[in-house]
Amino acid sequence: MTFRPILERTEKRPILIAGPCSAETEEQVLQTARELASDGRIDLYRAGIWKPRTRPGEFEGVGAPGLAWLKKVKEETGLKVTTEVGNREHVFEALKAGIDVLWIGARTTVNPFTVQEIADALRGVDIPVMVKNPVNPDLKLWMGGIERLYKAGITRLAAIHRGFSFHGETSYRNVPHWQIPIDLRRNFPDIQIICDNSHICGRRDTLQEVAQKAMDLNFDGIMTEVHPTPDQAWSDAAQQITPAQYNAMIESMSFPEANS
Ligand code: PEP
Ligand code: MN
Repeated sequence: MTFRPILERTEKRPILIAGPCSAETEEQVLQTARELASDGRIDLYRAGIWKPRTRPGEFEGVGAPGLAWLKKVKEETGLKVTTEVGNREHVFEALKAGIDVLWIGARTTVNPFTVQEIADALRGVDIPVMVKNPVNPDLKLWMGGIERLYKAGITRLAAIHRGFSFHGETSYRNVPHWQIPIDLRRNFPDIQIICDNSHICGRRDTLQEVAQKAMDLNFDGIMTEVHPTPDQAWSDAAQQITPAQYNAMIESMSFPEANS
């Protein structure tokens, strides 16, 4: 399999993806985007509008109306935007709205029927897709999700490493099991791998160290959750950081030459 990069870029530096866990209001989506765009650092703006929550009763996303807010982000800031899709309807809505890059969440990658449904909905469409690892530490299931999309003709594919569920004492929200993304790279040598430090850490104070570890392993990028008022976030409050904290984190990291 030959994968193409998810974004056209000339600089040899890591792909930086940032934005809130969830789109909450138009103002929150635009304010976060403006602050990130004014720094000129990020390549792609993320915001979840369909949120698959582990348990019922939590905020499940604003849904399709949030697509219009992401469209405004594009128009106003020029940033490219990405959101999570979890079924065929999400795909059709996102394509109609001009979303630049799609991602498949960890709770979707575990289900081959759903990944296949998404792949079939994308047949004949040339759009970049990022596939998060499944919640469980299963390299083959992650590879299988990527292969389903590839077989449907999607070749601008990246893998997002967001860590793996673990029952017991750990300082991580999702344990990284670094050997799994390393093994993914062994199987798919030219796939871009993005580290989602936010969902690995689940807290703010370890975000930089995990992102740095990914860079030291020559991952291709970092995806981080950024919110203007993290403590008030409607989802994943404990792990989100402000745009200023994000900029400070990136500033103090070192990026090896080899990162794409
Ligand atoms: C997210 O990116 O906000 C998300 C729901 O992540 P994951 O699928 O990795 O849990
Ligand atoms: Mn999140």
